[in-house]
Amino acid sequence: MQDPDCVFCKIVAGKIPAKVLLQNERAVAFLDAFPLAAGHTLVIPHSHYAKVQDMDRQDAMAVFEIAWKVAGAVEAGSDVRATTIAIHNGREAGQEIPHMHMHIVPRKGGDGAGPIHLMFKQRPKLASQEMDALRDKIAGGLS
Ligand SMILES: [Zn+2]
Repeated sequence: MQDPDCVFCKIVAGKIPAKVLLQNERAVAFLDAFPLAAGHTLVIPHSHYAKVQDMDRQDAMAVFEIAWKVAGAVEAGSDVRATTIAIHNGREAGQEIPHMHMHIVPRKGGDGAGPIHLMFKQRPKLASQEMDALRDKIAGGLS
């Protein structure tokens, strides 16, 4: 399943070169061509899925297996002791390329990026009953 206009599908197909770190039969990790920090890595499924929940189980497992294997090496190879691992899961969340991709960004103290909590200037204050209602609504959608 590929989209001929998708830059990540083109990387998977070998039509655009990428600095590949690791690959399995369903997913690949490569250096982001526009890194936020030296060593910024992307992990993508070979198949074109827009969002995390669109992946089939095997592809989801394959993506995380690659992330599991590569995260420590990204830290060691980038001379850092931490990474931020993030997925922008949909346009409103900041996803620019609609092919699911996981960012592994090397982090240093004082790099100015902070925790993802700083993305949210206003946080909701939810009462326990509202949390219960949300839990029920979300859990009701699980199959
Ligand atoms: Zn794609």
